[in-house]
Amino acid sequence: MSPLDPTANRSSIDRRDGRSTAPQALTPGSFTRDQIEAVREAAMAITASLTVEQVLAIVAERAAKLIGAAASLVYLVDSLTGELRLITGFDVPEQSFGFMLKPDEDLAGHAALSSQPQIASDATMLAEIMATFERIAPKSVAPHISSAAAVPLIYSRQVLGVLEVLAIDGMIIDADQIALLQLLTPHAATAVIHAQLHDRNQQVMNLLEMINDRSAAVSSVGQAVINAGHDQTRMSAEVLTRTIASLHLAGGKVFLEDPVTHHLAGIASENLPKEDSVAGLELAAAHCLSIHQTILLQNMSAQAWTREVTQWLSDHHFGRLVCIPLIADNEPVGVLQVAAKINQALETGMLDTLHIIAGQLALGVANARLFGRVRAEQQQLAAILSSSSDVLIGLDANGNIQLANPAAERAFGFVARTVIGQPLQRAILNVALNNAVDTAIKSKQRQPSGMEIPLADDQTLFCNLSPIIDPVGQLAGWVAVMQDITHFKEAERSKTDMILTASHDLRNPVNLTLGALDLLGRSANNFDAMQREAYALSLLGVHRIEALISNLLDLERIEQRIGLNLTKCDLTETARSVVSEMRLPAQQRDQKLWLTLASTGDIPHVRGDAQRLYQVISNLVSNSIKYTPAGGEVSVTIWVQDDQVRLDVRDNGVGIPAEAQVRLFQRFYRAPNVTAEEQGTGLGLAIVKSIVEQHGGRVWVTSAVGKGSTFSVALPIWQEPPNETG
Ligand code: ADP
Repeated sequence: MSPLDPTANRSSIDRRDGRSTAPQALTPGSFTRDQIEAVREAAMAITASLTVEQVLAIVAERAAKLIGAAASLVYLVDSLTGELRLITGFDVPEQSFGFMLKPDEDLAGHAALSSQPQIASDATMLAEIMATFERIAPKSVAPHISSAAAVPLIYSRQVLGVLEVLAIDGMIIDADQIALLQLLTPHAATAVIHAQLHDRNQQVMNLLEMINDRSAAVSSVGQAVINAGHDQTRMSAEVLTRTIASLHLAGGKVFLEDPVTHHLAGIASENLPKEDSVAGLELAAAHCLSIHQTILLQNMSAQAWTREVTQWLSDHHFGRLVCIPLIADNEPVGVLQVAAKINQALETGMLDTLHIIAGQLALGVANARLFGRVRAEQQQLAAILSSSSDVLIGLDANGNIQLANPAAERAFGFVARTVIGQPLQRAILNVALNNAVDTAIKSKQRQPSGMEIPLADDQTLFCNLSPIIDPVGQLAGWVAVMQDITHFKEAERSKTDMILTASHDLRNPVNLTLGALDLLGRSANNFDAMQREAYALSLLGVHRIEALISNLLDLERIEQRIGLNLTKCDLTETARSVVSEMRLPAQQRDQKLWLTLASTGDIPHVRGDAQRLYQVISNLVSNSIKYTPAGGEVSVTIWVQDDQVRLDVRDNGVGIPAEAQVRLFQRFYRAPNVTAEEQGTGLGLAIVKSIVEQHGGRVWVTSAVGKGSTFSVALPIWQEPPNETG
């Protein structure tokens, strides 16, 4: 074979008949009119084609016909390996397309390597070509090949491929014919470049379209989730429809898991044959949900159900089946199942899009469920609140009403919806409640407190004001729960009346008895031992009755506010005299008793009645001494907290059980953990409470059995009246 330089080497072309012909001029004039017309027509057909395959098929056919060749082959150079790939041919079986030639193999290889037309010049070469053609197209014209030529397809000095023509039955391809082909190949090369550009453009367009489709799918699914509100069924159906349409999928199904029974049920289906209820589809969904992973099904045959699904897919001309678990907040809620069209690629980009869609749907379903749960709980709570006969008022940290039930409306005579968001003080005019809430707001009260709330119509409510602490430990407000205790109050009042009447009636006989005992006591020296013991017991008994009577009458006077004189009062001074007076009884029990002023400056005065406050501190300290074993400690601490003076009486005594603490301030109540030996009337703390409340203050207890108790009193600081200042 020899390179064919159209200008220099044409004289060296060897003909099959061995004769050498004189070089022919390559001017258009050398071709017949018909030939030029045929080239022009072929060029037009080539240029009109859009794909590389179409262009080259026309080149192959027209080239063969142009020179009367029996067959033609068109190769393109693989830009990576330099090898030649058979793209198309004329009179060549399609199966051989894709056949590869080494860069220097055969006539075509040489043409590509040299960038020059090549012609088979001797029998060895022809034999090689025949052998190649035999591989390309067995049982064809190979044995009859009498001549062959290869012309490179060159664009901008780059060899894109090779056109090879084969003649049979003694026909010899000559230089003129090659020159004729060379008129055609530049058109072919240009058209290949154009077609390749067109292909690439098309690919970019397809890619853009795909990206467009996918982002449209994602945003349309987002919209569907929003549109469906809290309706899971509608949401699933909308999401499925939009996914199938925008991603051009064949069909699909959404399964949701029942949060209680964990049963997985198909909730929406799109474009799937209706009569089919394929157990395999459900098994695939269940499997996907159990492993929390996406599964892709096509040719798996490991398990019976996968075989069933793949059979079903092929029966209905579907491509692959994708199952994606719907997981929100690590909680599986269902499965999104979509079937691709046959031959539809489900590449990473598509799966990513489906995962985003599944994520949106899962979140939508989880939110809808959460909403449903919250609404059910709200309805339940509302039903409880409205049917409750207890008065319920919820307040925020500023004392604004957040919630009020119908019982509250009835008790305070307002319409709940008109007072929500308003300060309690503006909505309800009840001095006791307003004061309690005011104190709670000012002291940022974190302890529950209880108080009686008298209503205008002689009714009385008992109010428990409890703090609401949010999950991060901040005080969020209070809830006031009030119960009607009018009947108890009445019963208590009649009980008190009876006791008071009895006390009054008993006072005279008791005084008489005491006088008589006093008289008797003067001759005590003459008593024998038994008489002395009987005398001592009688005296003790009568003194106890007298203490009880005087306590009761005292309580009555306190409650009637008889003799109460609230003035500027030094609580520290009062406490000091209580402590010094109690020191002796404490020492007798081998206890330590001391007073601490825990404040940087002076303790301000309070508004109080010094005698009554003395009674308060003295009752608390004597209780602590009484209920603390020998060798224990009792301390009194006074300090300032916000606009109140605080007094704590702390001991390390027997302590009080929690259930007893709530009843401690009731009359005659004595906690079960104190023994009968510790004498008392059960009236001391009732007196303390009554006095403290008349001072506008609060008293409460914190205690642990076996560790000790702290009784705390908070009293408002003395405020100078405006006319007395300066
Ligand atoms: P009493 O006359 O019984 O002391 P109080 O009204 O003073 O009546 O007290 C009521 C009850 O509270 C007592 O019986 C006792 O159970 C309990 N208590 C009061 N103070 C203390 C304390 N410091 N430690 C333990 N229990 C106490």
